[in-house]
Parts: sequence; C-alpha cells; structure tokens
Amino acid sequence: MGTIPGRSSPGIHAFALARRAGLTSCARMSRTTTTSPRAWAAAHRCLAVLHGASTPTTSAWPAAMACPKAHLWWIGPSAMMTSPRSMIGWNGKSALPAMRDANSGPRTRGYPMPPLAPSLRTKVLARGAQALEFTTFTPPILVNTVPRAGRDACCHCGSCVGFPCPTDAKNGTQNTMIPRALATGRTTLITGAHVTVIEQDDNGHVIGARYLTDAETGPREHFARAKAVVVCAGAIETARLLLLSASSAHPDGLGNHSDQVGRHLQGHYYPAVFGLFDEDVHPSDGPGVSIATTDFTHGNDGIIGGAMIADDFVMLPTVFFHQALPPDVRRWGSDAKDFMRANFRRVAKITGPVHEIPDPGCRVRLADFTDRFDLRVARLSGQVHVETIRTAEFISHRSADWLAASGARHTWRSPIVRRLSAGQHQAGTCRMGTEPASSVTDQYGRVWGHANLFVCDGSLHPTNGAYNPVLTIMAMAARNSQAISQTI
Ligand SMILES: Cc1cc2nc3c(=O)[nH]c(=O)nc-3n(C[C@H](O)[C@H](O)[C@H](O)COP(=O)(O)OP(=O)(O)OC[C@H]3O[C@@H](n4cnc5c(N)ncnc54)[C@H](O)[C@@H]3O)c2cc1C
Ligand code: SF4
Repeated sequence: MGTIPGRSSPGIHAFALARRAGLTSCARMSRTTTTSPRAWAAAHRCLAVLHGASTPTTSAWPAAMACPKAHLWWIGPSAMMTSPRSMIGWNGKSALPAMRDANSGPRTRGYPMPPLAPSLRTKVLARGAQALEFTTFTPPILVNTVPRAGRDACCHCGSCVGFPCPTDAKNGTQNTMIPRALATGRTTLITGAHVTVIEQDDNGHVIGARYLTDAETGPREHFARAKAVVVCAGAIETARLLLLSASSAHPDGLGNHSDQVGRHLQGHYYPAVFGLFDEDVHPSDGPGVSIATTDFTHGNDGIIGGAMIADDFVMLPTVFFHQALPPDVRRWGSDAKDFMRANFRRVAKITGPVHEIPDPGCRVRLADFTDRFDLRVARLSGQVHVETIRTAEFISHRSADWLAASGARHTWRSPIVRRLSAGQHQAGTCRMGTEPASSVTDQYGRVWGHANLFVCDGSLHPTNGAYNPVLTIMAMAARNSQAISQTI
C-alpha cells in the first residue's frame, strides 16, 4: 500500500459491480460501498458499470483506472506491455535488448522483480534441455520473488493453485489494481453484486445494469444507470449475460445480431506428460512453473500451431494422486499408496497450453436450468478441432523427449481425447474482429451496433495462442480502456 498514491484526481467515475463478497486484506481495508447505487450514480458522473471485478478478475481494473486525465495511470502505446507488469508485479529474467533471448519478445524495460530461484526440478530439466538443444527461460509469473508493495516474497509453500497465499506474495487484482483503482477516488466498488441484465431503453440503447445483492429478506434488486457498460465477467459469464439481456430490440441477446455471442468457446488443451526420476524433483515445491521453452510455439512441420512447454503446475499430493499416477498403477489399495510414498517427490510433469483452432461449434448457450436467482445458467457444448488434437500429440512427444533427456527412467501421459477444453483459460465467446458479420466487437471491445457497450476480458480472444492468457488479457484491457475513456 505504501507505493499507492491515495489521492483523488479529477476525471470520470467508474462504478464496479463484483459478484464475489470476499476481498483480501488490502482491498477490504479500502473498499467503498454504497447502499444506494442509484442515488450515487445520479450524484456522480458515472463512466461505467464494470461488471465482474472481484478476485481474481483480470480485465476490469485497468478499465476502472484508465482515464484521459488520470495522474496515476496513463498508458501510451509503447508502455502498454510494461505498465501492467510493474503495476501488478511480474517477475522474470530481465530481457533488455542486450540480453534478449529466443524466448522473449522485445521490451524496453526489464521486469520489476528478479526471477524465481531455480529448484531441484529446474536444474534437472535444464540438463535435458541442454542435451536436446532446446532454448529455455524462466517464465515470468505474478508472484513476489522479493518483498514488494508492502507484501512478502514467496516462501515456496506449494499451495498456489486454489488456495490463498500465506505470505500474500501472489499478485492478484485484490492486492494490486483494486486498491489502486479505489485510491484514485474515481471508483466505487460494490461487492456481493450479481449482475442479472444489461438494461436498455425502448430503442435498445444500453442505459445501465440491474443487479442483485443478498439481503436478510432475500435478494434485493438494484439498478445502476451508466453512460457506458463494460462487461468483464469471463468468457462464459459474459456470453451468458449478453444472451440473458435479450430485449424486443435485440431478441437474440445483446451483440448477437450475427449469432456470434457464445461461439468459438475455447480454453487450452494441456497434454500432460510425467517422468519418474531416480532423484528428487519436488513436484510440490511452489509456485510451480520454473523452466519453459517456446521452441515449439510455431513453425512445427505438419501441424498447426504449437505450445510453450514447461514444468507446469505445482501438484499437491491429492492432485498428484488424481492426475499423475502411471496408468499401470491401481488407483486404490496398497499399490497407489506405495507409489505415492516412494515416488511423490521423484515425478516431474511437462505440459503446455496448446494453441487451439477456434471452432464456432464450441459454444455457450442458455440452458433450460436456472440458478438460485431463477436465471438460466450457461450450457457449454462442442469439442476441440481434430487439428488441435494432432498438435497436442506433437507437443506431448516433445515433452516426453525432454523428460527422457533429463534422466527420467519412465514416462507416461494423460489420455489425449477429443472433448471441450473450456475447463481453464476460457476465451473466444465475444471475439473481436473487423466485420460485424463474423465478430461480436470491434478491435477495442466495443460491441458492434452499441456505442456504449464494451466487452473487456478473455471473451475477446479470437484465439488464445500458445501461452497462458492473462498477460494478453491485461494488455488488451489496458489498451482498450484507453480507447474507451477517450471515446465515451
Ligand atoms: C486455478 C487457476 C489457475 C490459473 N493460472 C493461470 C496462469 O498461471 N497463467 C495465466 O495466464 N492464466 C491462468 N489462469 C487463467 C486466468 O485466471 C483467466 O484466464 C483470467 O483470470 C480470465 O480473466 P477474465 O477477466 O476474462 O475473467 P475472470 O478473471 O474470471 O473475471 C470474471 C469476474 O466476473 C465475475 N462475475 C461473473 N459473472 C458475474 C455477474 N453476473 N455479476 C457480477 N460479477 C460476475 C466473477 O466472479 C469474476 O470475478 C488460471 C485460472 C485458474 C482458475
Ligand atoms: S508458492 Fe504460491 S501460495 Fe505459496 S508462498 Fe509462493 S506464491 Fe504464495
């Protein structure tokens, strides 16, 4: 918090509606709530209803902070990629022009923090990469490797995925962007607010959002009038909300004039390969990914796309038991226990996010079932393209090669089958584009046909590419929020 300017500054207000009730300490300390959003919106000049925006939303907060007059946050095109890194706290090997390697894009500045120290696993896998002449790097991750912004460094506890961080070293919106957005004095945050519909006037023009909060007597409905609405609910819920916001002017849902909302749903297909070593490789030593190669992201003969491959992710014992046991070991009884006891620390995993072929048949629609608010839930359908499967096969072979060259005496892999991959890294359901006939928004996330309705999250990705998506989502949020604030 010490580095966060706490002043109000002139500009346009953002009004943020976050579904989750809980925020961690930083944001909770400084959050602003109001019991009468309608009165608040009327009294202030309200830029946007930012839908979403609780832990761990990625996209909403750059939008909340961007403003043409902001002293705190100004992103020019050249600074676009570096600003989110230093605002949020990224670590990595500094790739200044003189130090550039094959795995890093051009940058004008280094990372704000040094990379993670290598683990036993990193050293073992570096050995194999060297033998195969793979170029490797330490992937930048959103974790404090040194004390920063009043929070401790990572203590390598290994509970990164799915658990709170004991040292608050994990950088999420709750301890980075949200406090900064609130500190500008131009953001009002309502937590525990579930947006149910984007409201329109009789002509189908967007005028705000309706949302529910829990009251002792049951859900209480509110309306927030806004000059513009930015939807950042993630690729599944954003599509669902646009579809739920059908009106007489837009009977198939907002932005759905070309039947594109909800289509091209994608995630990342991760073909995991495991290797059993004679030495300790510590699969539970956090935060996880420590060595990667981008040698197979593009230009692979005979297949489309590729993937960054890495020692991705940290595995707690229970996750290991679920995912990593070799196929010939029974999942019950003494076999499984003996394998765990003898080998939990001696198995390493290599995997990577396969660049998927977008498919309009993979989609989010409204189901016939409803949630506790009596709103139709999202129904997901489709399966990955056959070419994605071929790429996954190719990547799994490169991963197995890497493990074997590193000294694994036995390797095995998770089954590669056609299925929907949207269990993680959901994207694509409101793709941006240049033509209203084949996309939902323009290149800045403005929904075609709506001057004041924007999407600003993973839904915009025409493809997720061959990398984890967050940095792209953040960079686009930074770029688009500048465009939004300049045109509203
Ligand atoms: C366990 C895990 C590990 C991951 N690890 C990585 C990683 O290492 N690297 C990486 O690049 N990516 C990673 N990802 C993926 C990454 O977190 C997502 O791609 C990214 O957060 C998506 O950003 P978004 O803004 O599209 O949506 P989100 O971050 O999902 O934000 C959407 C927000 O909208 C809120 N919301 C939804 N509906 C409503 C509603 N009706 N009303 C109000 N609020 C609503 C949600 O509560 C949520 O806060 C990981 C994801 C998970 C789950
Ligand atoms: S391993 Fe993950 S959860 Fe544990 S201290 Fe490090 S960043 Fe936090």
